Amino acid sequence: MTASPSSSPSAAQPALPSLPPAFLDVLDALIPPDLRPRVDASYTAPKAVVFRINPLRAPDTAAVLAALAPLCPEPVAGVEGVFRLPAGDRDALTHHPLAADGSLYIQGVASMAAVWALAPRPGEEVLDLAAAPGGKTALIAACMANQGRLAAVEPVRARFFRLKANLQRLGVRNAQLYLKDGAQVGRLVSARFDRVLLDAPCSSEAQFTRLDPTSWTHWSPKKVRASAALQSRLLRSAADALKPGGVLVYSTCSLSPEEDECVLDALLRERDDLWPEPLPWPVDLPALPGLTAWRQRPLHPDLTLARRVLPTEWTDAFFLCRLRKRG
Ligand code: SAM
Repeated sequence: MTASPSSSPSAAQPALPSLPPAFLDVLDALIPPDLRPRVDASYTAPKAVVFRINPLRAPDTAAVLAALAPLCPEPVAGVEGVFRLPAGDRDALTHHPLAADGSLYIQGVASMAAVWALAPRPGEEVLDLAAAPGGKTALIAACMANQGRLAAVEPVRARFFRLKANLQRLGVRNAQLYLKDGAQVGRLVSARFDRVLLDAPCSSEAQFTRLDPTSWTHWSPKKVRASAALQSRLLRSAADALKPGGVLVYSTCSLSPEEDECVLDALLRERDDLWPEPLPWPVDLPALPGLTAWRQRPLHPDLTLARRVLPTEWTDAFFLCRLRKRG
């Protein structure tokens, strides 16, 4: 009788499928050799789960932690109300009543970092130009303590209604939602917002996992180029919608520089009223500075102030850059 792979502890595991060769080229060019084993390992195992306690629904963090028992989350140093659990607890947390009632929200720490970089304050006027499903919109509203005005734009109807439902569940009361192409917004409401977040639609390289080859089914170098073209249009619109003196954060969940520094470089060459700023960075995340050259092409030197969060056992790949508009 032949033992099935699962019944024999010594049986060799089937090899996991390889990431697409064109994406491996990007990793080869970007990731320093000493960090590469950690990055490679992140594609072969489920990640730790990070969540935040939502002050708009649950002002008492200790009560939420007590109600989560026997789950025992570890605080993420540097930020209040953000915790992490082992990957094996993901299902229990996802289906927990405190997730269902909006007391907590599962959200990657790099995704939260985009909102920490934006640093919205109560009473301001803030634009989230690519908002669904709304994780960052809800964190912006929490930073604003539901005071001021938050405009959230999403053009895809099904995603728009998911955004609406999520914001209701998470207790967001200061948001106005627009089912709209973000590329039109800068022309319609020019120089209006104190802060603008463009968490751009992208080729979603952060979702790649070798445990599920369908995670890259829709990815190709052509998709990267198409994403970059859309990102450029949205970034111009975001820059136009920003008030003089305001802050713009551009982020993607792609590692390809064509979607990150190259999009910003094109904008910075076109106009001299915006420049990159250092990022508020409360958490010790595994990250590299932004690139100042890519494939022999020099890029704006201040793009070194951007950050590329690396994919690891607890973080997803993420790119972010904070820009200031001349006052
Ligand atoms: N910020 C969201 C969050 O944290 O939950 C995630 C945003 S996701 C990366 C990008 C979003 O941009 C998608 O919901 C996508 O449908 C939307 N999008 C696509 N084309 C757009 C456009 N022309 N204008 C604005 N948003 C667009």
